Amino acid sequence: MGGQRSTARDARRPAVFSVRTYLVGCVVAALVILLIAEAIVAVHSLSNARHKAAQRADYATTVATAAIKTALDQGKTAISGVARTLSIDAILAAPDKCSLSFSSLGPFTSGHLDVVAPDGRVPCSSLSGHGAPSGASQAGAPWLTTTPSGPSMSGLFTDGLTGRTSVALVAAVGGVGTAGFVVLVLPVDALASDIAAAYGGPEHFDFAVTAGDRVISTSQKAMPVIGSHAGWIESSTDLAVPGWQLVSGRRTAAALAPTRSLLISETVVAAVAFLVAFVLLAVANRRIAVPLRKLALAAGRLGREVTPQPVEVGGPAELRQVAERMNAMIAARVSFEDKLSHDALHDPLTGLPNQALLLDRLATACETAAEANTRAALLVIGIDRFELVNTSLGYRVGDHALIALASRLEGALRPRQTLARLGGGEFAVSLPDAGDRDTALAEAAAVSRIVAQVVDAAGASLTLTASIGVAVAERGWSAEELLRNATTAMHSAKERGGARCQFFEPSLRVRANTRLRLENELSRALERGEFYLEYQPIVSLPSRRITGAEALLRWQNSVHGIVPPSTFVPIAEEIGLINQLGRFALEKACEQAMAWYELGYPMRISVNVSAHQLLTGNFAEQVTDVLAHTQLAPDLLCLELTESTLMEDVLRISTALHALKGHGVSISIDDFGTGYSSLAYLQRFPVDELKIDRSFVGGLDNAADRNLVAAVVALAHALELHVVAEGVEKEEHALQLVRMGCRAAQGYLFARPQSASRVTAQLPRHHIDLDEAVSRSNAG
Ligand code: C2E
Ligand code: CA
Ligand code: CA
Repeated sequence: MGGQRSTARDARRPAVFSVRTYLVGCVVAALVILLIAEAIVAVHSLSNARHKAAQRADYATTVATAAIKTALDQGKTAISGVARTLSIDAILAAPDKCSLSFSSLGPFTSGHLDVVAPDGRVPCSSLSGHGAPSGASQAGAPWLTTTPSGPSMSGLFTDGLTGRTSVALVAAVGGVGTAGFVVLVLPVDALASDIAAAYGGPEHFDFAVTAGDRVISTSQKAMPVIGSHAGWIESSTDLAVPGWQLVSGRRTAAALAPTRSLLISETVVAAVAFLVAFVLLAVANRRIAVPLRKLALAAGRLGREVTPQPVEVGGPAELRQVAERMNAMIAARVSFEDKLSHDALHDPLTGLPNQALLLDRLATACETAAEANTRAALLVIGIDRFELVNTSLGYRVGDHALIALASRLEGALRPRQTLARLGGGEFAVSLPDAGDRDTALAEAAAVSRIVAQVVDAAGASLTLTASIGVAVAERGWSAEELLRNATTAMHSAKERGGARCQFFEPSLRVRANTRLRLENELSRALERGEFYLEYQPIVSLPSRRITGAEALLRWQNSVHGIVPPSTFVPIAEEIGLINQLGRFALEKACEQAMAWYELGYPMRISVNVSAHQLLTGNFAEQVTDVLAHTQLAPDLLCLELTESTLMEDVLRISTALHALKGHGVSISIDDFGTGYSSLAYLQRFPVDELKIDRSFVGGLDNAADRNLVAAVVALAHALELHVVAEGVEKEEHALQLVRMGCRAAQGYLFARPQSASRVTAQLPRHHIDLDEAVSRSNAG
């Protein structure tokens, strides 16, 4: 937990230092610590060395002082002894018989013995062996003026014989009437050098002897014994001679030299160590900090850029590993981005360019065409009633059909043309240099032929048709405009029944706009209660009595007025409103039929059913629901289906119809003769009635139509089907139909579609026996 908390804290704290800064910081910190340690060691070692040198100087002066004292004491003893054995008179009498000798005395390596007469003459001296040097005299030496009682030492004087600065150890020598001295003359000018030679030791201390302010001897002229002692380490001791001092000293530089050289070598080692540290720092920087920085920058790019460049770093294995993983991430990201941008511009099902990519290519095509003084064109291909393939055969079949169609169309493309899928069953082909209307229409016709070839989709064999909208770009059209106009033309082709090519005309746009507004209104019409039913009576031909009625849907809209079903039913089918609308019509019609039944008129009600209703949803259930809810007898309900409806999906429609038939409902084939139903189908479906299309009935005046109607009536009788002639407008047509054996009809001749109350008003005023009526209506 603690670790996690501190990690979280670390993550919150903003990073201040780079790895390089940390590395440099560590090295600099180590450098500073080492420098301080070095300085402390240096100061300590130097003061130690200084202290030791001072101690040795003390020792040297102590030893030298002791030696001088011993020497002077020995000298005094020696001259006392000599004085006792000598007689000045005898020496004066025979000076050449006098002999004195001197060997070195402690630190006094030179000196001599003199016998001095009271007048200062030197009759005998160790300097000259036997006899005294001629004219030798110590006259004027200050120690002559006092006669010491015992051996004593003189002050400083200039030796009369050697001219050197000396001290003298003096002892009186007895004689007859006269008195003289034995004098040991010790020159002091070489004393310091001699002491240095004897007691300078391995460090070669220098010595000086001072008397008060005067330096009487020094082994080293530069040695500063008085005043400034800078640059020297010294020690001084008082000598046995009053007022004299012995100073020993060494140059500080020399005394500290070993320590200093040691310190220098240590510094050199430290410097080398630092050089190595800096080299290591540079290596660490190059091998760790620089790659890390590259990685950090690459990670930054990964966050900012959509397709960042891969990163290349050297350095340790872990960093390379991070870089490799980062590159793998980048590669994954790039391929993901590629896929995303591909997906954004392509249809996932067929892999064809989608609308966005088509528009992009169209824009280029329009520009290029304008430059080349030609015109680009666009075909928008809508597969007719494609939703029915999906809803009746399933989406798998629909998808396979689209894929097969896409590859077939793609195979027929010419260079620079683009095939795109716009969605659902809609495709588009761009023709960058179609030039004119005829070329574009020829291309559209070629596409129609390709679509019309049988498609094998997931086991189903489909024959499809296409509604193709064709638009040729006018000067100044945008790609969007071209697409919109070609689409408008395609919708127009669909409205006109499909399986055709439609060239775009500006008037189509007006119609398309009207249609769009209709669509808008239609989607709200049901909840606004704008629909109602009219009923067109169906009469028995010989008697002209009303035996039934067809329910016809009406739409009364505040904007568009009364809209005919031929306009709104296809739109309702397209926008998916037809099921609700169909249920509405079924309910109202059954309610009305029940109302008539209760009034004593058991009329059969015919209700139009569109293919959509049969193929989507649970139509059979809906019908039984409505029958149960209105309590209408099933045999008073007839469902009218067009031939083309029957052909949509033979298997499913047949199943649905058998179910309905099982409930006792009648089935009628509407507009019979306009479709392509075969006799086999007529037997296969549980059909009760044929309604001969009004186009044939209206044409009864010409022989061809007359023959056809007669044939249909005969066919119906042969198949034991009820037959109704639709659209009877003329009396002679009614008579002809009677002659042909047609016993039921519907048309303006008898009654127009009208309100239920108006139909009721036309019903015979006498009460009909219900049972009798039902049996009559069943008999047709
Ligand atoms: P339809 O089923 O063929 O209906 C008969 C049409 O013919 C009606 O047109 C009717 O007014 C018209 N008609 C009847 N007698 C004559 C005549 O003597 N001369 C002429 N010239 N026309 C005549 P309407 O009402 O405009 O309906 C058109 C179509 O709309 C219907 O054709 C039917 O396919 C469809 N429709 C109407 N109501 C519904 C409905 O509730 N559901 C569905 N799915 N379609 C409906
Ligand atoms: Ca009908
Ligand atoms: Ca009809």
